[in-house]
Amino acid sequence: MVYTRASILMRRDFIVIGGGIVGLATALRILEAKPGTKMLLLEKESSLGRHQTGHNSGVLHAGLYYKPGSLKAKLAVEGLRQMVDFCQRHGVAHEVCGKIVVATEPRELPRLEKLLERGSANGLQGLRKLSPDQIREIEPHAAGLAAIHVPEEGIVDYAGVVEAMAREIQRLGGEIRTGNSVKRLKGTGGVWRVETEQGGFEARQIVVVLAMAREGYTWGNIHIGDLTESLAFPGLWKFMLKYPSICSYEIWRSVSRNEFCRSLQKLVPEICEQDLEAGSAGVRAQAMSSDGSLVEDFSFVEEPGILHVVNAPSPAATASLAIGEYVARRLDLKSAK
Ligand SMILES: Cc1cc2nc3c(=O)[nH]c(=O)nc-3n(C[C@H](O)[C@H](O)[C@H](O)COP(=O)(O)OP(=O)(O)OC[C@H]3O[C@@H](n4cnc5c(N)ncnc54)[C@H](O)[C@@H]3O)c2cc1C
Repeated sequence: MVYTRASILMRRDFIVIGGGIVGLATALRILEAKPGTKMLLLEKESSLGRHQTGHNSGVLHAGLYYKPGSLKAKLAVEGLRQMVDFCQRHGVAHEVCGKIVVATEPRELPRLEKLLERGSANGLQGLRKLSPDQIREIEPHAAGLAAIHVPEEGIVDYAGVVEAMAREIQRLGGEIRTGNSVKRLKGTGGVWRVETEQGGFEARQIVVVLAMAREGYTWGNIHIGDLTESLAFPGLWKFMLKYPSICSYEIWRSVSRNEFCRSLQKLVPEICEQDLEAGSAGVRAQAMSSDGSLVEDFSFVEEPGILHVVNAPSPAATASLAIGEYVARRLDLKSAK
């Protein structure tokens, strides 16, 4: 990309840092709320959606699991409906095929009841409990003692969503610059200066939606700096000491094809190792407190002229448009010319 000095020096109303689905949805919702806003989105990679957004499961999650009243529950349900509408309007491949959540052991039955309560409290429509026969009517290969049917959930091509969002941002006059890794932010006199290797950009307000560079997608891909930093964080050790069996089992299950297959057979008894193919891995950006507990809800930190999206784990892809709307409402759109 060739930049002219004038375009680099032009002061924007907003700079959004991070070209994943949450950054794109935020830029889009700001432009829709305030047409004519001078918007710049900066992404360090050579194309958009290369990290969590490009390595996720492609599921349209509803708000079944999330605590009623939490931001996650609210934005997941709103976001799911907004995402389906967006896909319909922009011709993005998706299917609202529904999901079943299955209890395979008696001790899971009370948890299923709780999920049903949560889903209803979160406003999901059409939830119903299924008997073993009803499970097989919907999914002939699944087995279980009981299940919940969640008809609003589905699957989607998030890469297609990213492309459509980028097109919309540009149609509304926003600018997207890939290959721009932000190195430093400096705020003085109500203006933020954003430094990248390509040069500096200025804006009145900044949104940071970046996932802090943990980018190893294979077991052999170890970044010593990231590893050292993670191991130096006391919360990680407390988390591992609190849940030793879960941590070791998850590692064991991801390296053992046999164990992975056995865990799947609880849900789909006829599946066998030959049916499994290795897929690509994902790296989840998840905030953790220093006491080792995971930050469950979506989380944002604000200071004058800058809003940081500090925790946007799953289902943030589904909820991205609702997150973008939420962020746009918290920004000072009036100051945009
Ligand atoms: C394995 C896995 C499966 C998942 N499955 C689902 C699912 O099925 N459904 C669902 O709703 N959610 C799912 N999620 C969650 C969802 O994918 C993420 O919550 C969502 O993609 C987060 O989007 P983001 O824009 O915040 O982050 P990202 O997509 O990680 O984007 C952050 C961007 O910031 C850029 N960046 C970083 N540093 C800089 C810098 N210095 N300068 C400029 N740019 C920078 C990065 O290159 C990146 O493009 C899944 C997550 C994982 C890990």
